[in-house]
Amino acid sequence: MKRIVVLGAGYAGLRAAKELVNLKAEAEIILINKNDYHYESTQLHEVAVGTKNPNDITFKIRDIISPKIKFIQDEVTKIDRSHKKVVLKNSEAVSYDFLVNALGFESETFGIKGAEEFGLAIVDVKSALIAKKHLEDTLARYASSQDENDLHIIVCGAGFTSIEYLGELVHRLPELIKRFDLPKDKIKIYCIEAGSKVLPMLDDHLAEYAVNYLKSHGVELYTATKITELTKNSVISDDKVYEANTIIWTVGVKGSHVMAESGYDQKRNRLLVNTDLSSPDDPNEFVIGDVSAVPGPSGRPYPTTGQISIAQADAAAENIIAKLKGQATKSFSYKSLGTVCSLGPSNGVAELSMMGHWKVKGHLAAPLKRIVNDRSVLELSNFTTMLSSK
Ligand code: NAD
Repeated sequence: MKRIVVLGAGYAGLRAAKELVNLKAEAEIILINKNDYHYESTQLHEVAVGTKNPNDITFKIRDIISPKIKFIQDEVTKIDRSHKKVVLKNSEAVSYDFLVNALGFESETFGIKGAEEFGLAIVDVKSALIAKKHLEDTLARYASSQDENDLHIIVCGAGFTSIEYLGELVHRLPELIKRFDLPKDKIKIYCIEAGSKVLPMLDDHLAEYAVNYLKSHGVELYTATKITELTKNSVISDDKVYEANTIIWTVGVKGSHVMAESGYDQKRNRLLVNTDLSSPDDPNEFVIGDVSAVPGPSGRPYPTTGQISIAQADAAAENIIAKLKGQATKSFSYKSLGTVCSLGPSNGVAELSMMGHWKVKGHLAAPLKRIVNDRSVLELSNFTTMLSSK
């Protein structure tokens, strides 16, 4: 019997494993993941701010996969593609006939000095919890330190992760002020963005709504300000130094480092795949999610999102089934359902492409994030149902 190995239990990997079972793949299916749980990466910012606990956004993998899938908890260190083997940190290498590489994303530093050491990334449960602890400890310390930098928070970048973090932060701030008895007027929250626009991928009016919302809650936004260095208590741009003892580093992501270490022809650890999502080097390897770059109709790769990862997983599973049956694979096609950026639990902005094109802002947008996730990630059923096999 052929063996299909799926790497990573993020949206892409879990969904691919599930779909292979649903499509009755005549093969052994093995899923390999570092942790024994899956986390909803679209909600990590809430854990980082402290409005949600890890339990609210994590699911034990064994509870949500079919017993037909063998699960190995281990860390992939390398893919030995010439021998078709996955090298693991703690257990023996696993060989494969088909591979679904869905190893996911990591924080990108762009080589900026101090970013790795002093920037608090939000890329997994562990880093989100570190960011939360740092924020709370630093605010709590003000009572004894009287260092005003303990009351300053800098969020680097103004993409989705930064803006969602800021929306959640200003929502929680009144509680933090009360809890640590903080002087409200001395708290400063900065957002520093290299580009000329906040949320550049959204419609101008929606981005403006987000900017005004955050400004009205005390956030100072600086655009066209490229960060060149981080120190323990400052962010340096070309012409200015911004001081803070909490620095959130959300300027973008790259694919897993395993891509470079396994010798892929990658850019920022993302591999440009064939139209059927297979690797240019191996027609039996499918690369999906944040380690892949899939050219869209404009020729430029689609942005990486949970939604596209799910669509890629379905397409890759169907193509593996086709190959097992000796049939031709199909090209991947994708239509985004839209984008929602939350601004805390009850506000947000959204651009939707479901039954027409909709632009929504304010309280109406908040539940839409759930709905877009539901449509793409949960497929109108609950999370456990979507990830487990029929
Ligand atoms: P991003 O790339 O979308 O945004 C990062 C921002 O940081 C950009 O605006 C960039 O100009 C800025 N930046 C980069 N270098 C800088 C520098 N040196 N100084 C100042 N600013 C700098 O990254 P992200 O927000 O981490 O998101 C990662 C991916 O996940 C994206 O594809 C995003 O679309 C997706 N995502 C989607 C959602 C959602 O749909 N609600 C939420 C979170 C993330």
